[in-house]
Order: sequence, then C-alpha cells, then structure tokens
Amino acid sequence: MGKLFGTFGVRGIANEEIDPSFAYKLGLSFASCLKEGSVVAVGMDTRTSSEMLKCAAVSGLLAGGVEVIDLGVVPTPTVQFACRHFRTDGGLMVTASHNPAEYNGIKLLAPEGVGLQRADDARIEDVYFSEKFRRVSWDRIRPVRKENILPTYIKELMANIDSSIIRKKSPKVVVDCGSGAGCLLTPQVLRELGCRVVSLNAQPDGFFPGRNPEPLPENLGGLMQAVVATGADIGVALDGDADRCVTVDEKGSVVWGDKTFALVAADMLKAEKGLVVSSVATSHLVKETAEKNGGSYEATRVGELVIAKVLLDKKGLLGGEENGGLIFPGFTLGREGTLTAAKIIEVLCKSGMKFSELVDSLPKFYQTKTKVRGPMEKVGQVLSKIKLEGKIDRTDGLKAVFDDGSWVIIRPSGTEPLMRVFTEARTQQRAEELKSKYSKMVESLLNS
Ligand code: MG
Repeated sequence: MGKLFGTFGVRGIANEEIDPSFAYKLGLSFASCLKEGSVVAVGMDTRTSSEMLKCAAVSGLLAGGVEVIDLGVVPTPTVQFACRHFRTDGGLMVTASHNPAEYNGIKLLAPEGVGLQRADDARIEDVYFSEKFRRVSWDRIRPVRKENILPTYIKELMANIDSSIIRKKSPKVVVDCGSGAGCLLTPQVLRELGCRVVSLNAQPDGFFPGRNPEPLPENLGGLMQAVVATGADIGVALDGDADRCVTVDEKGSVVWGDKTFALVAADMLKAEKGLVVSSVATSHLVKETAEKNGGSYEATRVGELVIAKVLLDKKGLLGGEENGGLIFPGFTLGREGTLTAAKIIEVLCKSGMKFSELVDSLPKFYQTKTKVRGPMEKVGQVLSKIKLEGKIDRTDGLKAVFDDGSWVIIRPSGTEPLMRVFTEARTQQRAEELKSKYSKMVESLLNS
C-alpha cells in the first residue's frame, strides 16, 4: 500500500502533485475513517492555491457525511485550538507550512487538535489507495458552518501572558509575519499586550513577496536590519502557517529556538513544576534547564507530532524543538508561533536585561550538523554496523552520550539518500572533533 504522509501531513507542488482531485480524495478518505456525522474544523494559510484546495477537501469531507466548520485563513495552531474549543472529531489545515510559495499541502488533526499519528495516517492511506470510500446519500449530506474563531482565539491566547510586565516596559518589537497566516493576529496581539510594534511583511500574500516563508537566518536579513535600524529590543519572525517563531536580538543576531525554549522553560517552571518534552536531537540545554529548575524532562523521536502526543498523554507543561515554536499544551496541542513570541517577550521584560545579555546568561553548548550522502540501500544498514562508545540511546536513530556530556546522533533521512550527523559539546572544538570522527565513520560505512 502506498504512503501519502510525511512527518506532518502531505506536501507537494500545488495544482501538480497536490491538486483539487487529490484534496477531494484525501478529504473523502479522512471522512470515511470518521463516523458519519462527525465534525471537522478546517482552516487554510495565505497561499494562492489554499482556497482552491480547501474547497476541494471540504467537498470530500461533505461527500463522506462529515459536518465542516470552516475557519477561513488562520494559523495551524488556531485549527488545533478550534478542535478543542468546538470538541470536533478532527481537523484539516491546508498549508505547506514553511515551504516556498509554489507548494501546498494538508495537515490532518485528531480530536483535541493533536496531529494525526502514524497509525491513523495508515488507515487513511489504506482507504485512499483502495478507494473504499463512504459516500453518503443526498439526504445525509451535512452543512458547512462558517466560524470566526480569531477573536476568541486571541483572547484565550493573551490570557497565557502576564501583560502587566510587558505594559510597564513597553518593549519595541519588530514582527516579520512573512505574509503568512500570522498577519491576522501576531502584530495585533503583541500590540494589545503592550509592545510597541513595527511590522514587516504583514500583508497576507500567497506570493510571499518579502521573504521565503521559512524563518531561517538566511531569510531574515530584512528583520535583522529592521531591528537594528529601529533600535528595537527584539525581532520575531513567523513561518507561513505561524506555528514556528524565530527571534532576533537587539544587535540583529538570530537567536535559535533551543535558547528561547530554555528561557521560557525556566520561567514557566518557576511558577509550576511539570514535564518538558523535546526530541533526542534537541540541545541538552533544554534538558539541563528543565532539571535545574525542578522540572522533569523527556526526549522523544524527532518531530512535533510525537512531542505533542507525549505532552497530551502525560499532561506535560511545555514542548518544542530547536527550530522554533513552542507547544503550550494547556492552550493548544501544536506549536504556537505567536504565543511563543509573546512568552519570550514576557520573559525578556521580566529579566530587565537586553535580549543578547539574557541569551548570553544561558550555559554554553555548541552544535554541529552534517549530512553524509550515500546509496539509499546502504543508509538503512549503517545503523546496524556502526559501533559507538558512551551511553547509547536508540529513541531515534543512534545517539551516544559521552562522559563529559557531549553527544552525537546519527539518523537516516526519511526522504533522501543521506545520514544526518549532529554533535553537541561544551566547547566548539570538542563538537568539531566529534563531527569529524563520526561523519568520517558514517562515510566509510556508506561507501564501503
Ligand atoms: Mg509551520
């Protein structure tokens, strides 16, 4: 049986790989896996192809006897919130997240708004490929309910932030929405919380004219410049569906997600002890910070979905990965870019420091990331052949943690003929040593 879904949903070039007939069939397959009369919340991002694909997916859901709540253009976490708020049986978001403008895709959600897990994906794939759809008769077709959830969403989101401290400091914040779904709320939320907001790329536009929607340092030149030029205290950038958030300090340098994760975790754990969850590939800075502040910590396989599921099952406090965007399970079971930004700003205001000083106050960890290419058929064999010393962790790929706390993780790519080798250590030199040693080892096994 074929496979449709990647780590979270399905993505491809819009109107080629992901066309209306695909979206219709996927909607119908999803409906066929739910009970007739189930309710599904549907949202979309700002892409040119999103409305077209949403209409097709909604047709599929309706044909399968499912009732649809249409939320219009919203961030992915807003659909996740709506699943909880309206107690739906599922959710569907038309988005290609951080991918370039020509892409689109569909993310499917389970009750409570948690991303669909692999077993459910497989059931839907089974229906999709076998075409064993449930099509209801004309008299059992359900309606589409349009709901404007954003005012409620914004109100509930803001209730998670201590705005009194932000109001007192009134920090200057440059917000780069990247013309994605964040345009609909992020500048407004930060302004209402008491920030002086300068917005960039804050007009929804499916061509993403200002920058590539992925908040990577190479795409954030405009934001870095704007932060320095306006004398702002912090800059924040969101991705296309506003679930990820990356920050820039007052000097214009990008602050990566593991650092802001640690800052937010330390702050939240002061008020409430709980479980912090990230992946085995995330910096030990997060683990160390969580444990030092009286929290517990768990590392999962790589990927937002697994982290969200653990947070749901174990009633965790906070989760995330290094690429930015934290999961606040008390609010919604997916990464929430706007809330992440607001929380970082709250922590910054409480600290009384400049953002760069606050980041500098964290313990130092150095990382390296490499890819080693080799034939696909050998990629699978490397993990069984490789010999590592240290404490071995097989949660995802192969990780070895050494006596000095440094580590290496070796993981096959799910989609390309390559192995990823990440290392981390207390010094740059040690991280580089580990990188050189283990990437050479992987290379010789791949090419032997
Ligand atoms: Mg995203």
